[in-house]
Order: sequence, then structure tokens, then C-alpha cells
Amino acid sequence: MTGGRHGGAILRDFFFCGIVLNVYIRTDNLRYRKETLMPDDVDTLETKRSKLLEEFLSLGDLRPGSLTAVMRRCGKPSCHCAKRNDPGHDPQFRLTRRVAGKTVTETFPNPTALRKAQQEVTEFHRFQKLSQDLVALNEKICRLRPVEQQRGGWTEQEKKTLLRSIRK
Ligand SMILES: [Zn+2]
Repeated sequence: MTGGRHGGAILRDFFFCGIVLNVYIRTDNLRYRKETLMPDDVDTLETKRSKLLEEFLSLGDLRPGSLTAVMRRCGKPSCHCAKRNDPGHDPQFRLTRRVAGKTVTETFPNPTALRKAQQEVTEFHRFQKLSQDLVALNEKICRLRPVEQQRGGWTEQEKKTLLRSIRK
């Protein structure tokens, strides 16, 4: 029983800290925005967004997947690769990716083909980073963008359309 009570106390303290912290951040944020209008206003963020979107145009061929090297052993008992601690034959490089829940594996016939794939995967990671940055920036813009003054409440039709779009 005492253990349970103790846990409750910790939880309460945790929530309390959370509330205090939340209030602190909010007041701090408000003050920050009043004092320095420039760094976080919508115009500045929109400029950043335009630059970010331009970077998307510089992306080359890209594709997802992870590259792995697989050690090969031919299986002949007389071969050096059969010895313990032998590095084996030249590693085989594979690109694996998930397609509809299944792992698809691709191997490369030569180093040039591998290098090409490496470049494409690197480019995919660049694309992912750019996408994450773009979403983060947009979230900031969405928060800061003021709601336009409108003529009051929803119409019945708007309500229906909205609810339908949310349920999808
Ligand atoms: Zn061998």
C-alpha cells in the first residue's frame, strides 16, 4: 500500500512540475514574441520555407533502402575461408528495403553499381531530412498564422463536409 501511495505522490509531483513548466514556457514565449518580433514571425518563416523548397530541386536520383555487407564463405572445407577468424571472400553488398511488409534484396554486380546505389540512398536521406525540416517549419507557420476573421459559426453543410474529411 505504501508503495502505491508513494507512486501517487511522484505522479502528482510530476504533473505539478509539468503545469508549472507549461505556464513558465507560455509566459516566456509571450514575452519573447513581444520583445523580438523578427526571428519568429510568419514572413521570416515563409522566406525560410521558400529557400527550403528550392533545395528540393537540387535533389538527384534517390531511393530508399539500407546497404549491408555480407561476408561470404564458399563452403569448401579446403578453402582459407573455412578457417576460423578468416575474413572470407570479398563481401557481397546488398541493398534491402521493405515493400508491402516484405524485405526486397538487391545485390550489385560490381563496385560501380554499388557506388551508384550508395549515392542514391544518400540522396534519399537528404530528401528525408529536407522533408522533416519542411514539416517542422510548416508547423511553426500554422501555429503563428492568425485565424482570419469570419462570419461566425459553421453552416450545416460545412459541418458535414468537415466531419466527413476528419473521419477519413
Ligand atoms: Zn572460400
